[in-house]
Amino acid sequence: MTDRRRFLKASLLGASAPLLAWAGGRSAGPAARGTKASAARVVSTWDFGVAANRAAWAILGQGGHALDAVETGVQVPESDLKNHSVGKGGYPDRDGHVTLDASIMDADGSCGAVAALEHIEHPISVARRVMERTPHVLLVGEGALQFALEQGFRKQDLLTPEAEQAWHEWLKTAKYQPSINSEVHDYGKGGAPGLPGGAHNHDTIGMLALDAHGRLAGACTTSGMAWKLRGRVGDSPIIGAGLYVDGEVGGATSTGVGEEVIRNAGSFLVVELMRQGRSPHEACKEAVMRIVKKRPEASKTLQVGFLAMNRDGEVGAYAIQHGFSYAVCDAKKQDALIPSQSVYTTSYS
Ligand code: ASP
Repeated sequence: MTDRRRFLKASLLGASAPLLAWAGGRSAGPAARGTKASAARVVSTWDFGVAANRAAWAILGQGGHALDAVETGVQVPESDLKNHSVGKGGYPDRDGHVTLDASIMDADGSCGAVAALEHIEHPISVARRVMERTPHVLLVGEGALQFALEQGFRKQDLLTPEAEQAWHEWLKTAKYQPSINSEVHDYGKGGAPGLPGGAHNHDTIGMLALDAHGRLAGACTTSGMAWKLRGRVGDSPIIGAGLYVDGEVGGATSTGVGEEVIRNAGSFLVVELMRQGRSPHEACKEAVMRIVKKRPEASKTLQVGFLAMNRDGEVGAYAIQHGFSYAVCDAKKQDALIPSQSVYTTSYS
């Protein structure tokens, strides 16, 4: 069957589809909120979120702060050389530079971010320093690097031999074509045939944590779209696009083609919808549908996924394309990986 025919057969998931959102069985009552360690929970995007959650849980399970948990958690994929869409092992831009975007946000609206940062292994920690040690929210490029070095971060060459090889492969066609990510990541398996540099040329870890004291925090970090134009910044470091947290409501984060998320202030929209009473699942779905409605043709060939958790620890997600998943970790379940519902059940690639 051709891809087109397969796509035409793909159907919109109807109301009868099973609800895959993780509800967790927690009491929604404010009195029960955040009063014991078992109330803590961390969620994050994609299969690599499982290992990241584990690191975050080492802090949350001890009664630690949600902000420390999300920073420590997302550092795991940032250091994973087999992960080509986050941190040190990330694929470079069109000109061969690995440039990283990250943001972090606390329940009270404090936030920090870096964009197009080069040579630093943990952009999330630089983002936290921006939040805690400057009057600013976002530092970019050279200035972000200068700040990181002043703060004692080590300057490194981030372009790994594997990423460099993939970039040289890509240069043969030099065609910028964001992939739709489906099923599982191929990192560590040498990529998929036919797509230079592997099938997956973008993804992000977005993480949301609720600690035992009822404090929420979020973090988001990525190398962005592989082979992007130099200077391109995605949604991940844009507060309200790739990440938003409001302690009174909940938090949301995104993955996928960042331009679409920025155009719709995606994570802010999800949080505002939760504020109006939507469940995390409903809010993510409505935000996805807004993107699809605005650009129905374009959205058939691109991926955007949202993940949200409200202040009661209820979790939901939704994506345009099949294949998005999110990891959940709490006192009862450590390594859960849950497939997200999506608009399309079959994708082009
Ligand atoms: N949102 C990221 C960006 O646009 C990429 C992704 O998560 O797939 O930079």
